[in-house]
Amino acid sequence: MIRPIIFCDFDGTITNQDNIIHIMKKFDPPGWNTIKDHILSQKLSIQEGVKQMFSMLPSTLKNEVISFVLKEAQIREGFDEFVAYTKKHKIPLFIVSGGIDFFVQPLLEGYGPFAGIYCNEADFTVDNIKINFPHGCDPYCSSQGCGCCKPSIMRTLLTAESTSIVIGDSITDLEAAKLADIVIARDFLIERCEELNLPFQTFENFHDVISILETRVGVKQ
Ligand code: MG
Ligand code: ZN
Repeated sequence: MIRPIIFCDFDGTITNQDNIIHIMKKFDPPGWNTIKDHILSQKLSIQEGVKQMFSMLPSTLKNEVISFVLKEAQIREGFDEFVAYTKKHKIPLFIVSGGIDFFVQPLLEGYGPFAGIYCNEADFTVDNIKINFPHGCDPYCSSQGCGCCKPSIMRTLLTAESTSIVIGDSITDLEAAKLADIVIARDFLIERCEELNLPFQTFENFHDVISILETRVGVKQ
């Protein structure tokens, strides 16, 4: 008997686009694009990069940033059915996100409850937006700068009987994918898994994810 447990990314996975990138494109603080490139090329840790990008935006933009991101974000097709599928079969679904609480929480409202939601947090009480990282790296993480450390979270939740499933799209999911039994990937994560010879299956929407789980985990929708 395997015990499937799902760790699902948020930005670019549950939503069609990366919300942090979307916010930066819109409010365009000077130099954010270089920071983004340095994160993708792993010259800069995700934690440091995200912190720096938001620290260039004044906290007075709070309401504008929040209403912009909530208005623009689109949930990927089939997510509703996917959540229902996991509930029906009692498969724990954890949302592990490098995104920020002010958009992750409201966008997921109405879909849950989930087994857990892990993300970073914004503090708007100081001059510029300050990002806090309550789910940092444990001593076993090889990156030590994940921000929200997905492999560290997985280590606290997995047992010997678990079959871990990681769903993601980008560099922030790579360390989690290395630890997973099943990787379901799109976009940039596909390239990185190929480079590292990590087995994976691809998805474009959550109907694809359900099909993969039906085959791999053996529970029909
Ligand atoms: Mg992502
Ligand atoms: Zn880490």
